[in-house]
Amino acid sequence: MNVPRRDAHAVVIGGSIAGLLASRVLADYFDTVTIFEKDHLVDSAEPRMGVPQGRHVHSIWKRGLSLMEESFPGLTSELIEGGSAEVEMTKDFAWYHRGVWKLRVPSGIFITCQTRPFLEWQIRRRVCQISNIDLVDHCHVKRFVTDATAQRITGVAVQSRRAGATEETVSADLVVDASGRGSRTPRWLEELGYGRPDMSVIDVDVGYATRFYARPPQEDCPWKALIVAPTPPDGTRLGVIFPVEGQRWIVMLGGWNGDHPPRDEDGLLEFARNLEAPDIYTFMREAEPLTPIAGYKFRANVRRHYERMRRFPGGLIVLGDSLCSFNPIYGQGMTTSALDAMTLRECLDRAVHRGESLDAMAHHFLKRVPRRLDAPWRLAAGEDMNWPGTQGDAPFGTPFMNWYFGRVHALAARDPQVLVRFVRVANMIDSPVRIFHPRVLAPVLTRSTRVAPSP
Ligand SMILES: Cc1cc2nc3c(=O)[nH]c(=O)nc-3n(C[C@H](O)[C@H](O)[C@H](O)COP(=O)(O)OP(=O)(O)OC[C@H]3O[C@@H](n4cnc5c(N)ncnc54)[C@H](O)[C@@H]3O)c2cc1C
Repeated sequence: MNVPRRDAHAVVIGGSIAGLLASRVLADYFDTVTIFEKDHLVDSAEPRMGVPQGRHVHSIWKRGLSLMEESFPGLTSELIEGGSAEVEMTKDFAWYHRGVWKLRVPSGIFITCQTRPFLEWQIRRRVCQISNIDLVDHCHVKRFVTDATAQRITGVAVQSRRAGATEETVSADLVVDASGRGSRTPRWLEELGYGRPDMSVIDVDVGYATRFYARPPQEDCPWKALIVAPTPPDGTRLGVIFPVEGQRWIVMLGGWNGDHPPRDEDGLLEFARNLEAPDIYTFMREAEPLTPIAGYKFRANVRRHYERMRRFPGGLIVLGDSLCSFNPIYGQGMTTSALDAMTLRECLDRAVHRGESLDAMAHHFLKRVPRRLDAPWRLAAGEDMNWPGTQGDAPFGTPFMNWYFGRVHALAARDPQVLVRFVRVANMIDSPVRIFHPRVLAPVLTRSTRVAPSP
C-alpha cells in the first residue's frame, strides 16, 4: 500500500494540539482523516477535562507559531484579532533570570500570548474547515485493532460516550496516537506481545498555581510580559505574568523539587513575595483577581523510546506528548508537537517521491523523530539537573552545558548579541549548536560575568 492512496483512511487519537496539527498534515495525503476525541468539544475557548493543563500558562515559541502559521495561513492574525497579545520577546518581556534582568532590545522575534484553550480552539476551527477531516468528539478510543498476525495496526475500537452507543471497530490504513502524556500505546503494545518501550524519566516534581487577573485597557505598565526565574540550586521558585485574550493577565507561580505554590490566597502571595525579584508580588497585591487559584502537579519529563523496540507494528505513528513530555516550565510541548507534525509531512513526502509503502513511511518516522527530540530534551532535562532534588540520567555533557548556559544568562544582561542568540535557540528558531557561535562563545570564555543586579 503506497503513499498516497486515493481511498486511504487515517485515524488520529486525540483532538488536542498534536492531534490537530498531525491531522492537518494527513489531510494532504489521505482521502479521509478521522480524529477521535474523548472530550465533548464546544465551539469556544473552554478548558476541558482531557487537557487539564489548559488552565495554566502556555507560551508558544516562535518556531512553533511559525509552523502553525504555515499549516494555517492567517492564524497569527486571527489570534491577534481575537485578543491575543503580540509581544517582541527580547523587548516587551521583562525577564529576571539568574539574579539579573535581561537586556531589552529589538530582535524581530514576535510571539503571541493567549490561553491554551483559545489557541487550541482557533486551530480546531481551522481544522474543521478542511473537508476531508472528520472530528468525532465524545468518543473514546479503547484499543488498537490488528491483522490476524498482529504485525500491523489496522484500526481502532471506539466507544462513543453518547447515550446508547456501543463499541465499534473503525478500520484505518494509519493510526496516529496523539492522546497525550497518558497514552495507552505502551500498554496496548504489551497486550499485543510487543512489550513496552524503554523510557527516559527525569523526575523534577514541579508544581503550578495559576490565576487570572483583570488587565485594564489603558494600564500603564513598563512591560508586556514578566518572568522572574530562580537561580539554582537554592532558588526554586518561578513566576510568570502573560497578557491573554479577554483583557486578562494570566499569572503562574511554580516551583521545582517539591517547592510547590500553595493554592490559598495568603500562601500564594507569600510564595510570590519569596521570588527573587519583587515585581510579581507587587503586581498581585494590587491587581484584581478574576478566578480562583488552579493547581497542577507535574512529576517528571518522560520520553518513550519506541525507536529502540525490537519489534514495532506497521501502521502506527506516536507523536506529541504521547512520545515525549517535557517539564512544562520550558514551554516546549506545543512547539515540539508542531515539529513532530512537520517530521510526519517530511516522511510522507519522501514516501510519495520514492513510491514507498505506508509502513516504510511509519518506520522512517519512528527513526527520524527522536533525532528532532534530542535538542529540546537535552535543554529541558539538562536544565532540570541544576536542582539537586532532580532524579534521572542527565543527558551527556550536562555539567558543561549548564556551566556554559549559566554564563550565557549572565551575559544576556548586557550583551545584546548574546541575548538575541540565546532567545533564538530557546525559541527553537536556531539549532542549539548556534549557542556556540563565536559571537557567544568568545564572551562566554573571556568576559567576566559579574553583574550588579538592577532593581
Ligand atoms: C501545566 C502544563 C503547562 C504547560 N505549558 C506549556 C507551555 O507553556 N508551552 C508549551 O508549548 N507546552 C506546554 N505544555 C505542554 C502542552 O500542553 C502539550 O505539549 C501540548 O498540549 C501537546 O500535547 P498533546 O496534544 O500531545 O496532548 P494533550 O494536550 O495532553 O492532549 C491529548 C488529547 O487526547 C485526548 N485523549 C486521550 N486519550 C484518548 C482516548 N483514548 N481516546 C480519545 N481521545 C483521547 C485528550 O482528551 C486530549 O484532548 C504544558 C503542559 C503542562 C502539563
